[in-house]
Amino acid sequence: MSDKNKSFLTHLECSKCGERYSADIVQQLCECGKPLLARYDLERAKKELKKDLLIERENTLWRYRELLPVLKDENVISLGEGMTPLVKCDKTSKEMKINKLYIKDEGIVPTGTFKARGAAVGVSKAKELGVETLAMPTNGNAGSAWSLYSARAGMNSVIIMPEDAPKITRTECALSGSKTYLIDGLISDAGKVVKNSIDKYKWFDASTLKEPYRIEGKKTMGYEICEQMNWEVPDVIVYPTGGGVGIIGIYKALNELREIGWIGSKMPKLIVAQAEGCKPIVDAWEKGLDESEFYENSKTIAFGINVPKGLGDFIVLEAVYKTEGAAVSVNDDEILEGMKIIAKNEGMFVCPEGACAMMAAKKLRESNFIKETDSVVILNTGAGIKYPNAIEVEIPYVEKDGIVSI
Ligand SMILES: *Cc1c(COP(=O)(O)O)cnc(C)c1O
Ligand SMILES: [Zn+2]
Repeated sequence: MSDKNKSFLTHLECSKCGERYSADIVQQLCECGKPLLARYDLERAKKELKKDLLIERENTLWRYRELLPVLKDENVISLGEGMTPLVKCDKTSKEMKINKLYIKDEGIVPTGTFKARGAAVGVSKAKELGVETLAMPTNGNAGSAWSLYSARAGMNSVIIMPEDAPKITRTECALSGSKTYLIDGLISDAGKVVKNSIDKYKWFDASTLKEPYRIEGKKTMGYEICEQMNWEVPDVIVYPTGGGVGIIGIYKALNELREIGWIGSKMPKLIVAQAEGCKPIVDAWEKGLDESEFYENSKTIAFGINVPKGLGDFIVLEAVYKTEGAAVSVNDDEILEGMKIIAKNEGMFVCPEGACAMMAAKKLRESNFIKETDSVVILNTGAGIKYPNAIEVEIPYVEKDGIVSI
């Protein structure tokens, strides 16, 4: 392995006030309280990086090595995440009258959700910066990804999750050696305990958007969509949005690709899909606001998008406004219906969040916001098998030595 710096990372910049920070030391939020974004030498990237370079690269998100923040190869912690398939959905496409409909399937990444992308890059960079212990609140999926990648990195992790977080995610955290705690409350309550503990023990705060690098992992979904479509961007990208890291990342990726000249000036319309039981961004978008309001008593089976207010909500809304996108909610019954439709039509067992995005596209097609001729990419952010209790099905018995009646 080479010890040369592979990354074109230059510094961190506040997403709100523009203040610059060094990327050579551990950073959390800006002084002003808003998230920091990683910036690269894109001039140099434009000169030195050619698309052809990618042909020989490994089939993981690390193929975009120069535009990721980890300087040295020896610090890369990877389980082979990224380069998930862009699956064409012909049957659903016909039913919904959308000519080109694709699901980008994040269900097959390590840990079963796209959270692995953020964890791979976030943990690698934390390791590079000398972090020994990280702590975070989680609804489940992020915790399992970060604790497993921390284990691989030999780093300590402390995870706090609501007691109703899925059992499987608790097991993943505890089994990988993370100090795991349950709380009788919401993720926001877990967040307070994390903050108290970090103030006392000086751990690294790996809460969503309080560290600048998970977004860099998640932005690779945007790079991949463009690469897999041969650098023609789709007309529409639909993203199931909780804290919004993924959609902020995709927006950032599109802007970076535009700056280095790998895509043209056309931007896909970015669509926020939320569950009716937790739709702060949809409400804000409908009112034309720049920020969301805390969504009281949020509840949905799609626990990955149960985030009453995200720290980066204003960037999510900017992405939607600037790309002339939209924000749409669907209820839990529609989400379950979506899971059935996608399993039956496409042979994919998607997570409720992915089904939420598909059903949001269906609504937008019905209202003619999405046109028949549009190419549409739906993000399925995780595997249905991580939600064993989301859907009840009735299955009949047969007699031993009997014969099935059809
Ligand atoms: C976390 C999560 C989301 C939402 O993630 P953000 O990018 O933070 O909005 C969507 N789907 C699943 C399965 C998740 O775990
Ligand atoms: Zn700032």
